[in-house]
Amino acid sequence: MKPWAARLVTYGVSGGLAALAIAFARPLPDRRPLAEVAGLADTWEEHVDTVASGETIGEVLERGGVTGDHARDAIDAAIAQRLLDPRRLRAGTRITFGSAPDDSVPSQVSLQIDVDRLVRIVRGDSGWTARVDSIAWSTDTVAVRGKVRVHLTQGIGEAAAELPRDARQELAYAVAEVYEFRIDMYRDVQPGDSFSVLVERKRLPTGVTRLGNVLAATFTNGGATIEAIRLLSEGKAKYYDQHGKSLAANFLLAPLEFRRISSGFGGRRHPVLGIFRRHQGTDYAASSGTPVRSIGDGVVISAGVRGGYGNLIDVRHVNGIVTRYAHLRGFARGVRAGTRVAMGETIGYVGQTGLATGPHLHFEVLVGGVARNPRSALQSKAGPPVAPSERAAFDALRAR
Ligand SMILES: [Zn+2]
Repeated sequence: MKPWAARLVTYGVSGGLAALAIAFARPLPDRRPLAEVAGLADTWEEHVDTVASGETIGEVLERGGVTGDHARDAIDAAIAQRLLDPRRLRAGTRITFGSAPDDSVPSQVSLQIDVDRLVRIVRGDSGWTARVDSIAWSTDTVAVRGKVRVHLTQGIGEAAAELPRDARQELAYAVAEVYEFRIDMYRDVQPGDSFSVLVERKRLPTGVTRLGNVLAATFTNGGATIEAIRLLSEGKAKYYDQHGKSLAANFLLAPLEFRRISSGFGGRRHPVLGIFRRHQGTDYAASSGTPVRSIGDGVVISAGVRGGYGNLIDVRHVNGIVTRYAHLRGFARGVRAGTRVAMGETIGYVGQTGLATGPHLHFEVLVGGVARNPRSALQSKAGPPVAPSERAAFDALRAR
């Protein structure tokens, strides 16, 4: 190499290090890799490794060329900042070693401790220092529109092709939760129902995608349309329908969370256990041990074995409503006659005690001692309206 060329390279690197020092002295202007910010992108070298099962941080560092005192100081820097617990280093953690051309030892080690967080351990003039860098999620909104052919999970899965598989499943769960006081997405949904959902999508530069909030939705179930508009009220998100009434009410419609219902059926009625003639309730297929929740505030009337029902819980609510949960594997701790339970509280676990051919929950709503269609029996208790002070915000959101 000609002398002037060597000098240029030296200037280039020391200029880069100066920029590096400046970059550390103030918050990074953006989230580009440090090397790029420091102007080292052309000469900076990185290599990526992963932590193997049972491997110590020292062993991984050594493999990356950070040995002896360097390794000890680098680890100490991260521990001192409580950024790293070397005993809890997960197998599969990505670790990146960065070196400038004249480095005999890598000058930067990054551990991907979470999808959106990196621990950076950097060697400077005064030794190794450590800090955490958050990787910024970018958020946009996605509109998903479609029809149910089989069940909710299928419908949303087909309509949200632009989302990864996990996110599509999560969106089905989220929609079921938005409507959990108005539509039982397991029992009530039928082919031909249609929906549209506006949902936040959060993405990392690495391509990792997560769902954010459902901002608005429309669901047409059996010809009746219910809108859901998300509104922040005193820091809490609530959903309101097109009439400005809260979607929340005194009763949940389903005694199992939609996400807990047997995924094999994807939120469709069990083909064998489903509602049949002279059957007094709804059967939810779910694996044994799935938590069963009380659909409303109430008092346990009885919790024990009763004939073909097997382990049975009856809960008394307001307005002469009693809910019944049968074939349970067991009862939640402390649930017995006289126990007060809250809406959504776990009272027992799905099983197949009594006359049951497989694990499922048999659920009934009784009014004045007579089994009734849960939806019509519970529906009249609509939620409170939008507060007058929030009406303007609601109207503005609806208009969007
Ligand atoms: Zn049944």
